[in-house]
Amino acid sequence: MYGKIKDYLQKELTDIREAGLYKEERIINSPQGAEITLTSGAEVLNFCANNYLGLSNHPRLVEAAKESLDDRGFGMSSVRFICGTQDMHKTLEAKIAEFFGTEDTILYAACFDANGGVFEPLFGEQDAIISDSLNHASIIDGVRLCKAQRFRYQNADMADLEEKLKEASTARFKIIVTDGVFSMDGNVAPMDKIVALAEKYDAMIMVDECHSAGVVGKTGRGVTELFNIRGKVDIITGTLGKAFGGGIGGFTTGRKEIIEMLRQRSRPYLFSNSLIPAAVGAGIEMFDMMTETNELQDKLHENTEYFVKKMIDAGFDIKPTKSAICAVMLYDAKLSQDMAAKLLKEGIYVIGFYYPVVAKGQARIRVQLSAAHEREHLDKAINAFAKVGKELGVIK
Ligand SMILES: *Cc1c(COP(=O)(O)O)cnc(C)c1O
Repeated sequence: MYGKIKDYLQKELTDIREAGLYKEERIINSPQGAEITLTSGAEVLNFCANNYLGLSNHPRLVEAAKESLDDRGFGMSSVRFICGTQDMHKTLEAKIAEFFGTEDTILYAACFDANGGVFEPLFGEQDAIISDSLNHASIIDGVRLCKAQRFRYQNADMADLEEKLKEASTARFKIIVTDGVFSMDGNVAPMDKIVALAEKYDAMIMVDECHSAGVVGKTGRGVTELFNIRGKVDIITGTLGKAFGGGIGGFTTGRKEIIEMLRQRSRPYLFSNSLIPAAVGAGIEMFDMMTETNELQDKLHENTEYFVKKMIDAGFDIKPTKSAICAVMLYDAKLSQDMAAKLLKEGIYVIGFYYPVVAKGQARIRVQLSAAHEREHLDKAINAFAKVGKELGVIK
């Protein structure tokens, strides 16, 4: 019975390959960090991880995970509301709410699930979701799962957002939904203006802080800190898989009644397994570290500033960034691939992105900075970029 679809899949896969869009997994055989080892044996500097605070292999998180394993075992074998909630899940939820200054938090297996499960319990046909065009795939999927009317505004375009708010004016409830930091450009959503429009048009606000939490704002508390708008965002979603340790886990944090309703009706929460104790224990330790010192955030901010400035000085075309994402614009798809390949030979691991991941003619190399990078790592990368950039005629 498998024959027909097998032929179809083989042809589709061939088409993907021929279009140059086939995704290969790149295999590393070391822990995640600034310096990683590839299966070829090559040791390279990693500039493409979401390891913004350098916590992926931090001894304190590894130790906390081990202790939780010893103390609470490996798995929960249950969803949260049957027998999958330990005191430590509640502790982590409380720590997340404290960190963001929100009323309550609900944990998920991943932020993909948090976004997938946030809309359907809250919004129906009479309501309107007004979403940024560059929002993450999991937001798009989450919106698809609910019956609310959908409006899409151009990335960070406030005139367009206002237009869409007017179009949605008859809706019962309205919510503006945006990523805090957009992953391909590194720009930050203009939250001050979004708050003003939300107040003018009586809309709620949801922010996905996956690339901004731990990263933006002086103490890493995300866009509500950066724009000084604490208490004005109704729903925040985030991940434990990027700055916050790089493991696994997602969360929704915000207004009390919203979180309470999600515990009643959010499907990825009700019908998927509880986070394992090791991930929860490491998460608790991570939020304790965040409140003890600001060293990692400070180092990340210094590293980003240093790198971006040196790259601009070298003559590269860098997208204005307010995050730890630095997009080196090349515009040409093939050039982005050639440049990434040459950089890898120089020991710098970065990825070139091109259509359809970014708009046509907007190919780039995305560099992600980390608190794990030392000055010598940054200098090595900057020198390699300059060398390869000259070879390829990107800079003079
Ligand atoms: C990475 C990311 C997600 C998914 O987070 P996971 O916890 O890995 O599922 C969701 N939204 C945004 C904006 C992201 O960058």
